[in-house]
Order: sequence, then C-alpha cells, then structure tokens
Amino acid sequence: MQYSLKSTAVFQGHGLHSGAPVTMKVHPAPAGHGIWFVRSDVAQGDARIPATWDAVVPSKLCTLIANDDGVSVSTIEHVMAALAGSAISNALVEVDGPEVPILDGSAAPFVEGLLNAGILEQDAPVLAIRVLKAVEVREGEALARLEPSDMLEIDFKIDFTDAAIGKQAKVLNMANGAFVRELSDSRTFCRNSDVIAMRERGLALGGTLENAVVFEGAKVLSPGGLRHADEPVRHKMLDALGDLALAGAPILGRYTGVRAGHAMTNKLLRALFAQPDAWVLQDCEGRAGGKLPGVGVHHGDLPLRA
Ligand SMILES: [Zn+2]
Repeated sequence: MQYSLKSTAVFQGHGLHSGAPVTMKVHPAPAGHGIWFVRSDVAQGDARIPATWDAVVPSKLCTLIANDDGVSVSTIEHVMAALAGSAISNALVEVDGPEVPILDGSAAPFVEGLLNAGILEQDAPVLAIRVLKAVEVREGEALARLEPSDMLEIDFKIDFTDAAIGKQAKVLNMANGAFVRELSDSRTFCRNSDVIAMRERGLALGGTLENAVVFEGAKVLSPGGLRHADEPVRHKMLDALGDLALAGAPILGRYTGVRAGHAMTNKLLRALFAQPDAWVLQDCEGRAGGKLPGVGVHHGDLPLRA
C-alpha cells in the first residue's frame, strides 16, 4: 500500500549553507500525489517543485531541485531519505526558504518527526521500479550502478586519504526498517579545511561541529566523536537512498556506489530512465510490499541517542 502522514510534521532549524532560520512542514497528501516541495516564501510564479530526478539541477555540495520558473530548494537528500526510509510516498513539503533545515546533519530527527505525526496507510497499491538489467555510470575512479535484485540493496565503498576516514565499505538490504535502524542517525561529514574554504565563499554558514562530523587528518573535531566507527560510509548510503527516492517510486534493485556522490546517483537515474528495457513498474501488493524500505517502521527502530 501507499503511505502518507496522519498529521503535519513541523521541523525548525537552520539552512546549512545560508545559516538562516527555516521552518519546514511535511503535510499529508493523497494517494498518487508523490513527494512535492513548495516554497511558502515565493509569491510570484509557480512555487511547487516536484521531488523527481528530472528536476535535479547539478550542484556540487547537495541535491538541489528546481521547477520551470527557476524556483528551487536545496539539501533535500536527508528528508527524502527519511521519507523513503519510512515508506512515505505521498507528502507536500512546505519550506519558507531555499534550503531544508540541516538539524543534526542526519535523517534521524526527520524520521522521528514523521513517526510522531503518524504514518497513514492509504487505499492504493504502491508501484515499484524493478530493475531488469544493469545500468552503470563511471567518472574516473567513481562508479554508480543499478542491477536486478528482489529488494533494494545498497553497497557503498569510500576511500579517503584522510586517516579519520580511510577506506570504508558496507552493504545493507533496505527492506523493512533497516534504514532507520542502521543508517538514519549517521551525519554528514567534512574536512575542517573544506569548512574554512566554504565559509570564505559564504557557504556552510549554518554548519557547526554539532550538525556535521568535522575531521582533520586522524582527528574528529566534533564533540563526542563518531556515532558509528563507519559513520561516513553509512551517511553516504543515507544520501544514496535519498537521491534514489527521486526516482518517484521505490526501487527494487541493487545499488552499488564507489566514491559516488549526489551528482552520480542522479546521472545513474537518468541513464536508467533513458533505457525503457532496463526497468518495469511493478505492483507491490501482498508479500512484495513487505520487501520495500520503511514498511512497518516504528519508534523502536530509531537508534538510541544519549
Ligand atoms: Zn548527506
């Protein structure tokens, strides 16, 4: 079945790059609606932006979507991951500025807010995108691939020269609540030198040691250190789920990311949809529905934070 919310979930925080305060309201929406964003601060033209792969505008630091009137919203990937990881396929996300609030840099506060608002089962079957053949994009040493599988699996590898991160690899089947339990609380991460460079360009003004894992060489500067020894690769998997959610329907397939980022996952979706014989829409009633990410997620799946 398709899912939405029982009531509106409200989130207040700051934009990672602007540093400006932002309020985001995730409203319930009818079956078949999909995920849309709307900018409540935009009075002229069309303020609605579809959360779909073809609305993505190339951006180095985050996932940014825009409509035909040039109205955009950025840093959508963590709330998209929270929605997908909670099986919510219908919602209207109202934001009063150009950026989604960063909160703690992970998706866990979004998941918690969505669960508090209540998950609503709707009277319509969910359609999933079943991958029928391997599709791959490469760029230097980076790679992103989708291939056939009964369930959404995410296989990610990163390789940083920085001692605090180094090589990390993880594979996870996203069926049921695995995303919420294993990935949702992993925060975005960056080098201290990159933070300094971004600040000089007027970016990352809302970034703090609390909403990102900031490291320098072998040292983690954020107080309390890491939430998981492999928090960075877990966060990359979280980002991948959020970016894959822009397919517009849950994916049944195996995603492999090697040093991949937002732009590559979007290129991969573009490559998939450019090949009509590489995928098919599949009805997920009955047992197949239980294989989708987020079905049956509850508060007990959220990782405990001290
Ligand atoms: Zn991220």
